[in-house]
Amino acid sequence: MSTTRHTKALIVGSGPAGCTAAIYAARANLSPIMVRGLQPGGQLTITTDVENYPGFAEVIQGPWLMEQMEEQATNVGTVIISDTIVKADLSKRPFTLTGDDGDIYTCDALIICTGATARWLGLESEQTFHGLGVSACATCDGFFYRGKDVAVIGGGNTAVEEALYLANLASKVTLIHRRSELRSEKILQTRLFNHPKIEILWDTVLNEITGNKPGCDGIPGVSGLSLSNVKTNAQSHINVDGVFIAIGHSPNTDIFKGQIELEEGGYIVTKPGNPATSVPGVFAAGDVQDHVYQQAVTAAATGCMAALDVERFIADHVE
Ligand code: FAD
Ligand code: NAP
Repeated sequence: MSTTRHTKALIVGSGPAGCTAAIYAARANLSPIMVRGLQPGGQLTITTDVENYPGFAEVIQGPWLMEQMEEQATNVGTVIISDTIVKADLSKRPFTLTGDDGDIYTCDALIICTGATARWLGLESEQTFHGLGVSACATCDGFFYRGKDVAVIGGGNTAVEEALYLANLASKVTLIHRRSELRSEKILQTRLFNHPKIEILWDTVLNEITGNKPGCDGIPGVSGLSLSNVKTNAQSHINVDGVFIAIGHSPNTDIFKGQIELEEGGYIVTKPGNPATSVPGVFAAGDVQDHVYQQAVTAAATGCMAALDVERFIADHVE
């Protein structure tokens, strides 16, 4: 049987934005409910070292940081629910959201903190070998490539961190980037360039992932990559046992399509300098509304802003 819960402030998502919004909303006596979604703790739970979240002199671990944030949210009074929102009706207040198993959440104000999910290249072979040598998470799957050769696609912070992480396990890592310059932080680039196990292929794109396809004789899995140089058009092939796709993220906004204003890339449009969306009473924080900074600290900061604005909204609009 489905349950109906009402709260003044509903927070969807449990990454740094959601947890911070929950901490502030709970401390403002709004008795918030935070719905965790399929990735409790968000993106930081699939990384290892975090060394740019202020307050920690030594390197900390992403999953640990998120455990702490969630515990802090609980300790100040947030009700945390393991559910995933599959439907949202934002046409009138209270807003009505529906969970995976049919549970209903109604709220006077909503903070959307659904973050972003890894993007794929869209190659057919990427799908064929998904889970059979193709991955988007080195910390989840890197262990399977101990002593093997792997490649990473991308040139941002994620790609460089994935390459460095994999270099601790694999015998060789090839980073393949479509330009001749990385967009990752300089400190990470220095580590990458100095790593003896990492080779970089510049100006190169992946055309096809090759290997033994499922359903054929033998063990299915990736064995190589067909590449081309975008400047010379030279074609090449390298042998690898696995490939990690790290080409950025897309915002998790499908359930809000048609209900609030979204940008072309699907990011939620917020008002300049504050987290209000096109629907009064609906706020958005973190990566779901940010295609520029996308950091844990900026997600946390906008989560804080959203909760403070919800407090004012409730005071002005709810009896
Ligand atoms: P996310 O962390 O993406 O969390 C989204 C949350 O929404 C999840 O809990 C998910 O379950 C939930 N959700 C989604 N859809 C639904 C739904 N329908 N119903 C309910 N819940 C839902 N940043 C740094 O500052 N430092 C780093 O060192 C760093 N390392 C990174 C390493 C990797 C590999 C990656 C991928 C990112 C890294 N980042 C780092 C970026 C950082 O993780 C993100 O900027 C940050 O997590 C964004 O927080 P968020 O709360 O907006 O969203
Ligand atoms: P990103 O910064 O958007 O970088 C994506 C990379 O993939 C870019 O190098 C891009 O190439 C490449 N790319 C995109 N589409 C491609 C395609 N179709 N084919 C080939 N290459 C493609 O994404 P990200 O690295 O996932 O980082 C996302 C956010 O999280 C960033 O804000 C980042 O700072 C943050 N983050 C932070 C940390 C950290 O602080 N330590 C760690 C991880 C992530 P171009 O360069 O040519 O565009």
